[in-house]
Amino acid sequence: MKEIATQIEARFAELGIKVEPKDIETRLNQLIHEFKVPAEEARRNVINYFLKEYDIPRTEFYTPRETQPVKASEINEDGKWITLRAKVVQLWESNHESISQVGLLGDESGTIKFTKWAKAELPDIEEGKCYLFKNITTSEWQGQFSVKFNKTSEITPIDEDIEVGSTPVEFRGALVDIQSGSGLIKRCPECNRALVKGACGEHGKVDGVYDLRVKAVMDNGEKVQDILLNREVTENLTGITLDEAKDMATEALDQSVVLDAIKNKLVGRYFIVTGAKLDRFILVESIKPDEDPVDEDITMLLASAAQAGTAAQEA
Ligand SMILES: [Zn+2]
Repeated sequence: MKEIATQIEARFAELGIKVEPKDIETRLNQLIHEFKVPAEEARRNVINYFLKEYDIPRTEFYTPRETQPVKASEINEDGKWITLRAKVVQLWESNHESISQVGLLGDESGTIKFTKWAKAELPDIEEGKCYLFKNITTSEWQGQFSVKFNKTSEITPIDEDIEVGSTPVEFRGALVDIQSGSGLIKRCPECNRALVKGACGEHGKVDGVYDLRVKAVMDNGEKVQDILLNREVTENLTGITLDEAKDMATEALDQSVVLDAIKNKLVGRYFIVTGAKLDRFILVESIKPDEDPVDEDITMLLASAAQAGTAAQEA
């Protein structure tokens, strides 16, 4: 419902009219919950009410305007109508029937998550293909921006290849947690996915290939940031090479000794990382100790990380 209210507000804002989101929500709420009107019907009803109230012709409201073309990395406001020229970088598994497709779009400037609602009845898009997405809306949740496709959105395939780039970002803070799936891991030789209990999500039980990586959480007192270190960066930072890690695991008959060693070296220390942003992660290209860290209470950061840990592991 919040979604519908935001859309209505944004569309009216485009026509130069400020409608209070609370007024929209109150009306929607009444129709949907008291009168059991279907959501789509309620939406139309509320729109018609405000069209009359502000004396706007229906056609003007429903004819989408040419929306402003923006770059993925420029999206930093909630509830804007935009046009995006982008490539489908990844399609994820949709975990709700109201969502027909979800994943990551990218252009030269970076990537952004998208959600395509089932009720928008739009054609499916394909991974690796490029499109012009018109009349989509921006959305913000817990500081993360995304775009949403609705009934008025238009998807046009374009015959060009967009080079998906990324603007490197920097993050300074304390490394407060290292997540499971870090340290010495095995990957599927077919698809490179990390194995869980010796099995690939796609290819089942396989003879895995060893790799070294770190999935960690940083905190600067204001913001929590997930970071991902590949083998090379992990080796340089920890001083433990992949071969040494394998030896350690063989000797202890336990892979988790590597993870413990990495935790001992990194958790509770301050770092400056730079790298490309991919979804909620920074793919770390460089990481170095922060010699002059902001004076945050490390004990407090670690305690809050321990609390959030369980939730983060599941995400
Ligand atoms: Zn696989």
